Amino acid sequence: MLYDNHGRQLRYLRLGVTDRCNLRCFYCMPEDGLNFSHRSQILSFEEMERLTRILAEMGINKVRITGGEPFVRKNIMELIENISTIDGINSVNITTNGTSLIEHLPKLKAIGIDAINLSLDCLDRERFLKITRRDEFDQVMDSFHALMDSGITTKINMVVMEEHNIEDIIPMCELTLQHKVSVRFIEEMPFNGGGKKFTPITWNARQILAHIQGHYPNVEKLPDPESSTSLNYQLPNAKGSFGIIPAYTRTICHSCDRIRLTPKGELKTCLYDGGSFSFRDFMRAGATDEEIRNQFRTLFNNRAKDGFEAQQKSSNPFESMATIGG
Ligand code: SAM
Ligand code: SF4
Repeated sequence: MLYDNHGRQLRYLRLGVTDRCNLRCFYCMPEDGLNFSHRSQILSFEEMERLTRILAEMGINKVRITGGEPFVRKNIMELIENISTIDGINSVNITTNGTSLIEHLPKLKAIGIDAINLSLDCLDRERFLKITRRDEFDQVMDSFHALMDSGITTKINMVVMEEHNIEDIIPMCELTLQHKVSVRFIEEMPFNGGGKKFTPITWNARQILAHIQGHYPNVEKLPDPESSTSLNYQLPNAKGSFGIIPAYTRTICHSCDRIRLTPKGELKTCLYDGGSFSFRDFMRAGATDEEIRNQFRTLFNNRAKDGFEAQQKSSNPFESMATIGG
């Protein structure tokens, strides 16, 4: 089993499968994109599967496929299917911008994907265009409705940003009245790849909740599953629920069970650390499974207590969520 030096067991792998994306969300990357990695710099499927298998042997039981946009990586369904058959992995989830999800849904359902997080920051086409710099709102809404019909557990990720989508908070909450969906409001973080100056947020978890309670005073607090990153609530008589993720104010680090592997195979023991070790180079230099296991143990034995401590040690705190594997 894999534990860190603060006694937290690691159970959940977030695997960034590409740093590329077909959108340009301004809070994630600059308009011109990033200095995207060459194919040879990115882990191959075989390398990703090997690391996942080794981690599964160490007690990791859940994997999230993310990026960049997972569905822009060629043959991604092959990787998803292979990961889902690894012994010990009993939950495979995907985070996607939803622009090309529909064509993959039947196969994802057949593979038995447990849940999909759809990123959708607003319910208005113009605002969507301003935020993502691409006119793909209709495709994403089609994906949302297809997800609702599919019966796959669905969460919506909405990054809350002053002057961009505050007017969407209540309509987004109200989606949960009609749909069995969990809407999660995420505090904006500084990881925008240098695309914009980051100013400390005013729309933090507390303010988001106060705003919702201003419209719905009888919001009910739901129990938060162990190691959940969201504080969970429900509107009266809603079919779904909503959560607030204090990603910037970082009040949730004490129960963090996550391992991040970036598309280039760097380990991040915390979202806010700079990337501590290249498993890509280690594997390509011939490391054995046992050496890889020991390296994971060593690195997690030196893990920051929380995101603030990790940020202090980080050499590159403002990279893009797409290269981190959000
Ligand atoms: N492209 C996919 C998508 O957008 O769902 C997966 C990768 S994306 C980096 C994963 C999640 O990170 C998305 O929900 C996105 O909204 C979120 N994200 C990206 N940049 C962020 C930032 N600076 N602060 C907070 N969340 C961010
Ligand atoms: Fe692409 Fe996701 Fe980043 Fe938006 S948040 S630019 S969809 S990787």
